[in-house]
Amino acid sequence: MRIASCRLCPLAGGRTRTVPGVGAPRAQVLFVGEGPGFEEDRRGEPFVGRAGELLDRILASIGLSRATVYITNVVKCRPMKDPRTPQARGNDRPPTPEEMAACRPYLDEQIRALAPRFIVALGAVAARALLRSEEPIGRLRGVWRDYRDGELTARLLPTYHPAVLLRDEELKKDVWTDMKALKAALETAPAELPIPQAPPG
Ligand code: URA
Repeated sequence: MRIASCRLCPLAGGRTRTVPGVGAPRAQVLFVGEGPGFEEDRRGEPFVGRAGELLDRILASIGLSRATVYITNVVKCRPMKDPRTPQARGNDRPPTPEEMAACRPYLDEQIRALAPRFIVALGAVAARALLRSEEPIGRLRGVWRDYRDGELTARLLPTYHPAVLLRDEELKKDVWTDMKALKAALETAPAELPIPQAPPG
């Protein structure tokens, strides 16, 4: 895939590195976030800031890790409020609909290549993008849906974004409920592994 050299949207102009994704090429679970922040842009890896540390703990709580799942974002370059001050604190922002649309073919291609059994949408941006829905995350979370793309079907579970949990501890119990549901699904669903290609990067 051409993510590393992509110039399909203006985010390309402000990036240090593209952030395609990380994880196991045969992962059964794909986690999808919103977009890279400051630290991810610097390192080229998703979820390596504070929210990422929490995601690592969430994964560990159900016996998963960065090495056994695949983690990516809806957009692969960092959206900034002011691209002229990349070092400024609080300069991250959610991607615009145009940026998400420009980047979408990469996400679709990643999902097709990985063919995961389960997709966890982390937060409203990812959940709405993947489900093509306008519903609030509070209504989407915790409810399994089918994600379909041609021949491919995966079970998709929206949950809260780890960054939101850093601001509102109360929501952690809902994410815990969702992670237990994911663990149960992983343990009970048929262990029939598709033969995926390596995910593009
Ligand atoms: N938030 C996201 O949605 N993705 C990252 O990679 C980091 C923070």
